[in-house]
Amino acid sequence: MITNQIVARGIKDIQVIEAMRKVPRHFFVPENRRESAYDDRPLPIGEGQTISQPYIVAFMTEALDLSPEDRVLEIGAGSGYQAAILAEIVREVYTIEIRPKLGGTAQERLEEMGYKNIFVKIGDGYKGWPEKAPFHAVIVTCAPEKIPRPLIDQLTDGGRMIIPVGEKRGIQMLVLLRKEKGMIIKKAVMDVLFVPMVKGEKFMVR
Ligand code: SAH
Repeated sequence: MITNQIVARGIKDIQVIEAMRKVPRHFFVPENRRESAYDDRPLPIGEGQTISQPYIVAFMTEALDLSPEDRVLEIGAGSGYQAAILAEIVREVYTIEIRPKLGGTAQERLEEMGYKNIFVKIGDGYKGWPEKAPFHAVIVTCAPEKIPRPLIDQLTDGGRMIIPVGEKRGIQMLVLLRKEKGMIIKKAVMDVLFVPMVKGEKFMVR
């Protein structure tokens, strides 16, 4: 996976490569998918959701230009895999999941694996995590139609965000954003396909 999917496609950040080498991806997929865990594609993780393709995880992580002292917010914990990759690189990872069962499983799994620097919350990530802000980086792994304003507000000066944006069932664009002295600098980096960012209480009922 590392050689053929990550390095061959141009990922250079050694922190990202080492993290992807270290985190056992097969722990994060359902048991009947274990054999496919290192395939070059996303995989179902239940409730119609997916764990992203390894290359996309690496690309988004690299794009955030992370440092060991950073605190990062993730929206869409899903399986917890992306959070684990981040936690290998940075000081603290805060991750929000709107579907309680997925979030609960991710939290248990990450605890069992011994991660002490990942904090999982069940809730609507659209609003971010104001009590823990500001964040040096924000990564969104579900696609809203527009970039949620609260997430921009919760970035530090110099903070980075990577987020897929697009209409429901339409083309989504992966956007890299940087906050610089109150200014927002945005760059479209590639077309992607993520599950939609959903809103509302119905997902939060156990
Ligand atoms: N990063 C995950 C991939 C998750 S797929 C991993 O590494 O496995 C996207 C996730 O976003 C889904 O689990 C979905 O339930 C969640 N999601 C969708 N809308 C959300 C919202 N408003 N707030 C938080 N999570 C949301």
